[in-house]
Amino acid sequence: MPSNALTLPTYADVQAAARRLEGLAHRTPVARSRTIDAQLNAQLFFKCENQQRMGAFKFRGAYNALSQFSPEQRKGGVLAFSSGNHAQAIALSARLLEMPAVIVMPEDAPASKMAATREYGAQVVTYNRFTEDREAISAQLAQQRGMTLIPPFDHFDVIAGQGTAAKELFEEVPNLDYLFVCLGGGGLLSGSLLAAQALAPQCKVYGVEPETGNDGQQSLRSGALVRIPTPHTIADGAQSQSLGEIPFALIQPAVEDILTVSDEQLVQALRFFAERMKIVVEPTGALAFAGALHGGIALAGARVGVIISGGNVDLQRYASFLAD
Ligand SMILES: *Cc1c(COP(=O)(O)O)cnc(C)c1O
Repeated sequence: MPSNALTLPTYADVQAAARRLEGLAHRTPVARSRTIDAQLNAQLFFKCENQQRMGAFKFRGAYNALSQFSPEQRKGGVLAFSSGNHAQAIALSARLLEMPAVIVMPEDAPASKMAATREYGAQVVTYNRFTEDREAISAQLAQQRGMTLIPPFDHFDVIAGQGTAAKELFEEVPNLDYLFVCLGGGGLLSGSLLAAQALAPQCKVYGVEPETGNDGQQSLRSGALVRIPTPHTIADGAQSQSLGEIPFALIQPAVEDILTVSDEQLVQALRFFAERMKIVVEPTGALAFAGALHGGIALAGARVGVIISGGNVDLQRYASFLAD
């Protein structure tokens, strides 16, 4: 399908999302570090979405989407397939809006993630990753039970909701020269670009991917969506095989560039966050900061925004990153 057939959200949709989230999503803090400012001779502003409800920005997009369901859709409920933060965001939003939620997860997904999703009140349906097709299972369930499928990034209302995090940052911190944003399927980056275009048109916005999963960078370079095999990286929230079509249509003309970082650089960033800033960040959540540090962009003298996208990490796994 040609991209000009897509309906793209605008900044007005981000503003409408912000009104729906008022009083429901946290207005997350913006953290500073004198150590890093001195080291880079710049001013860094960290938007702490690791302190958002359910531990990541994904609550913003999920709630924005579900709160616009028709009465009939609410009755049928919502369906999502995810083993990560999107699942928990959908489950929490569905609970707040009092609608049923089914999350389709691989049967070997971490027990802690399944438990967290169930705690928010969703029903977990498992499938075998090697023998079953999750999209077919989801489509069948959606049809049988009259449920509405909400994808994690390739969705108009999800993108508009994700854009509210950068909107808050630009409103609180004027005159940013740069903004660094983690990049998986592109929901957060495309929403952030909508906010940047409206509130800080001079700000250069960079997406940051794991170097083994640089499908977004390849897509930007080639001018068409590139699909890659599931990448191996500790950034499990950025293991998408391809950007979404709607995100790509928004990112392609507006992003300054897409950078990549190694797993080792992510681990260094996690240690910095823990040791110097006293904050828990998941590997994917550290992509933007690692990109600011290692992406080769000269930041001296600049005002730099960094979105910390999430903080959900299994404690044993987290401890092993810090200890290595
Ligand atoms: C989902 C997620 C991302 C990637 O977001 P996209 O909208 O898919 O690009 C980054 N960080 C965290 C913590 C996430 O949960």
